[in-house]
Amino acid sequence: MTEATRVLVLNAGSSSVKYQLIDMLDGTRPAAGLVERIGEGSGRLKHTAPDGAVRETMQPYPDHAAALKAVAAELAADGLGLDSPELAAIGHRVVHGGKRFTAPTLVTDEVLTEIRRLVPVAPLHNPANITGIEVARALRPDLPQVAVFDTAFHTTIPEHAARYAIDPAIADEHRVRRYGFHGTSHQYVARATARLLGKDPAELNVIVLHLGNGASASAVAGGVCVDTSMGLTPLEGLVMGTRSGDIDPGVIFHLNRVGGLSIDEIDDLLNRRSGLLGLCGDNDMREILRRAEEGDAAAELAFRAYVHRLRKYLGGYYAVLGRVDAIAFTAGVGENAAPVRAAATVGLEELGIAVDPELNSVRSAEARVISPAYSRVTVAVVPTDEELEIAQQAYALVGAG
Ligand code: AMP
Repeated sequence: MTEATRVLVLNAGSSSVKYQLIDMLDGTRPAAGLVERIGEGSGRLKHTAPDGAVRETMQPYPDHAAALKAVAAELAADGLGLDSPELAAIGHRVVHGGKRFTAPTLVTDEVLTEIRRLVPVAPLHNPANITGIEVARALRPDLPQVAVFDTAFHTTIPEHAARYAIDPAIADEHRVRRYGFHGTSHQYVARATARLLGKDPAELNVIVLHLGNGASASAVAGGVCVDTSMGLTPLEGLVMGTRSGDIDPGVIFHLNRVGGLSIDEIDDLLNRRSGLLGLCGDNDMREILRRAEEGDAAAELAFRAYVHRLRKYLGGYYAVLGRVDAIAFTAGVGENAAPVRAAATVGLEELGIAVDPELNSVRSAEARVISPAYSRVTVAVVPTDEELEIAQQAYALVGAG
């Protein structure tokens, strides 16, 4: 009998579906791909086959069902179809699991209903995730489908850190609290940092800085998340590619009452036209570094504002944890932008934090330490792998792992 050792990881966004097929025995990824512009006139499917060949199809994908069927057909063409006996489960990234979903969960009708009930707190994300699950279930009703939640790792955050200081009755009625996001990445990176240091995650306090286009920080004590920078929505916290991060809530009243902007306009401003993009017109850190190098004042200000906020969280989480063993930089900016890592940590020797400029400038896809031996706190670059984390959690849940 063929052993079921593979997990298909699906990440369904509002107009895209990303997928990876991962073999849990050897960690290989026989296939991966992306469908973009679902629901638009011109869609695109990019599929990487087991031999590394890339097949690109340009055609409209009217909805997620059409997109997932096309993905299933691409996989089948490589002999990796959804009916393959090697497939143990499908792992779905689900953005919002509320308070209820603290761990990966086998999808049932009741679980789907609960994920649907969370749509009001994640209107941009959960609907697409739900569609992805529904379509995958329809294609392979007998196969275990596992939901892995972006919020789950943060459900251990103590009440005093998760609550906003507002009337609890109003907060509870509307499910207003700090949930945090990027949890799968924070969890993966915290554990990978322990592995890099040859330590048990239970004995390590880590500050994880997930700096992608969206960005968040978390404080992880002995493998357990105790605080994170995103809140009810992914808008809170660090300066991001297009999101403002922390802002005086009074700014919103002011822009509405005095500035005459509608709530939807302010939502759009803070989520899509702020952060690095809002400050300097670019949200790609590569471009900002290049412009700042040339003396562009707006790019320089954007860089400084980004780093300043990062340092505030670094210091804040240092105090939250009391003892910090490691700081891990991850995601697009964290893994690649040496100047950001240098600026975020400079002058913190009193806190036991130092970065070696030479180690920091090494370019590599591997997890690596960038602090000198004398640094009390280990500073590391730890590439994230949310797909692998989702696959591992799904595989372990279905009892195959
Ligand atoms: P992510 O959301 O994790 O895919 O990160 C995407 C972001 O990473 C991009 O918007 C860039 O700002 C940043 N990034 C990617 N590569 C580099 C690089 N070599 N140097 C600086 N920033 C980078």
